[in-house]
Amino acid sequence: MRLILLGAPGVGKGTQATLLSKALSIPHISTGDMFRYHISNNTDLGMEAKQYIDKGMLVPDEITVGMVADRLKQQDCRNGFVLDGFPRTIQQAKFLDKILKDLNIQLDMVINITLDDREIIKRLSGRRICPQCSAVYHIEDKPPKNEGLCDNCGTGLVQRGDDKEETIIKRLQVYHSQSEPILEYYKDKVKIVNIESHKLLEVTTKRVFEALGVDYKTLNAC
Ligand code: ADP
Ligand code: ZN
Repeated sequence: MRLILLGAPGVGKGTQATLLSKALSIPHISTGDMFRYHISNNTDLGMEAKQYIDKGMLVPDEITVGMVADRLKQQDCRNGFVLDGFPRTIQQAKFLDKILKDLNIQLDMVINITLDDREIIKRLSGRRICPQCSAVYHIEDKPPKNEGLCDNCGTGLVQRGDDKEETIIKRLQVYHSQSEPILEYYKDKVKIVNIESHKLLEVTTKRVFEALGVDYKTLNAC
């Protein structure tokens, strides 16, 4: 299955992509996670990307597109992938078309997760992440078992630098002006399913799995 998850920051794309990746045994390709990995390893790419990310701006295509192309060319993407956070502009969607054409593969579905801006701001400002394994928590809605520590690996949770209120607002503006138009671009090209993000993670997950025709129970087996 070759999937793209679209939606504003904070709708839960990353969480759903992680679950789909496990249930379908396909790689989860998150450009945000890739950038954060580069930043924590102080690579040149990471240092360059950080300047944009901290301001809530998009990282330029010169950096982003090559990174995604390299990833999609790897062997483990042969049988499918779930793209999360890419494409983020129509320009990137066109680049992706070209990358996939060169690899001779086609997208199966675009899943668009929706949520009100007001709810998004609430979610993002309470979000905490594990810098080690990328697990995502929320101080009220999904607290870790031990306060401030990751359930999976025990690492101290952190707030993302770009989850500050003023940066969140900037990211939402960027989403509405640059990323939302991608839906129009895909309208006649790929099947698009719109799914409203629910406060309860399980409800959203059920909706996503239903849309894909994947048995929700396969998740418990992971
Ligand atoms: P969110 O969806 O919550 O904004 P991500 O982890 O997907 O979080 O992205 C974090 C930041 O990384 C974005 O605000 C942007 O600066 C940068 N980024 C991620 N993906 C892309 C992309 N495809 N193109 C440009 N910048 C990106
Ligand atoms: Zn962890």
